[in-house]
Amino acid sequence: MSIATIEISISALQHNVNVFRKLSPASQIMAIVKANAYSHGKNAIASTLDRVVDYFGVARLEEGIELRKIGIESPIVLLEGFFRHDDPRQLVDYNLQTVIHCIEQIEKLQATDLSANSLDVWFKLDSGMHRLGFRPEQTNAYFQQLVDLDCVKKPINIISHFSSADELNSAQTLHQIATFDAFINSIADQSLLGKQSIAASGGILAWPMSHRDVIRPGIALYGVSPFSYNESNKATAADLGLKSVMTFKSEIITVREHKKGESLGYGLIWQAERDTRLAVVAMGYGDGYPRDILANTPVSINHRLVPIVGRVAMDMMLVDLGPTATDKAGDEVIFWGNDALPVEKIADHSGMSAYELLTRLTERAKLRYVD
Ligand SMILES: *Cc1c(COP(=O)(O)O)cnc(C)c1O
Repeated sequence: MSIATIEISISALQHNVNVFRKLSPASQIMAIVKANAYSHGKNAIASTLDRVVDYFGVARLEEGIELRKIGIESPIVLLEGFFRHDDPRQLVDYNLQTVIHCIEQIEKLQATDLSANSLDVWFKLDSGMHRLGFRPEQTNAYFQQLVDLDCVKKPINIISHFSSADELNSAQTLHQIATFDAFINSIADQSLLGKQSIAASGGILAWPMSHRDVIRPGIALYGVSPFSYNESNKATAADLGLKSVMTFKSEIITVREHKKGESLGYGLIWQAERDTRLAVVAMGYGDGYPRDILANTPVSINHRLVPIVGRVAMDMMLVDLGPTATDKAGDEVIFWGNDALPVEKIADHSGMSAYELLTRLTERAKLRYVD
């Protein structure tokens, strides 16, 4: 019954790309389209930005292959590289660039017969996140092993990732940049060094010295702030000059009278303090809307904010329209994505990050592209 819609504004997407070009005119852009482009539809986003941006970044080999199969021509980088079960020959067959972050990957390349200079790689330095990448004291030996591999194209690109770029007062980011630069300076033959890339959305917006050759916007590309939104920071991506790409919406199924003192929904967790009118809305956790949302979280109906009441169910939620409301079945309901209702705010109400809120939208919510 749900008619949940993920509406995607192509012009907002293009606006955000232009913001990054102005913020960092000397850098190339790697648009991150992993996790189905944060639920914005990987194939459509990549088709729109193909040869507009300089690279695409994905998390899995399958995502890269799919982009090639639909005809994407820009360079594509596997941010986590190929996995144990992947065949590195597919990287060459589909013209995919890979991050190299661990010894198992180097060994697999050594054991695979690939033609000379056939593979573009990004050597990943663990500059302090301690997730993927070579530790600073290991880097020179492993970098040399990559240099010695015939199949690896030279120069070799260098990539790293920040753990805390969203913490504006943290010394960690400066420490990571210093570690990155120490590695760069430690390479005797500088002609072996290709492009440098460190900054994702947080680095792009808060740490200009990290921009380097290639910036990697993910969440900010979609017009959402990477910084947490809370009582002490109410800045959204709009305050940073970005435009929200997604509007998440549905419609009213029916409007009903509700009497003072009556409770409603599963568990009857909300009780009306006055006679009122309720909207039954076609949206639930089966579409990806969080079930555990704070009481009184608003939705937008006919240009005003009205509260969700009771428990969000799989396919429906209830909204208190107020006693004098004139809203009717079929009217549009917006859950996030307009200026009054940024996704950052709903994330704060849900106890989740905006990243999680976006990526957990389900297949039942249908993508639609406008302007
Ligand atoms: C996901 C990811 C990004 C994008 O991160 P945002 O915070 O969404 O901008 C960039 N680089 C790497 C390596 C990633 O995994």
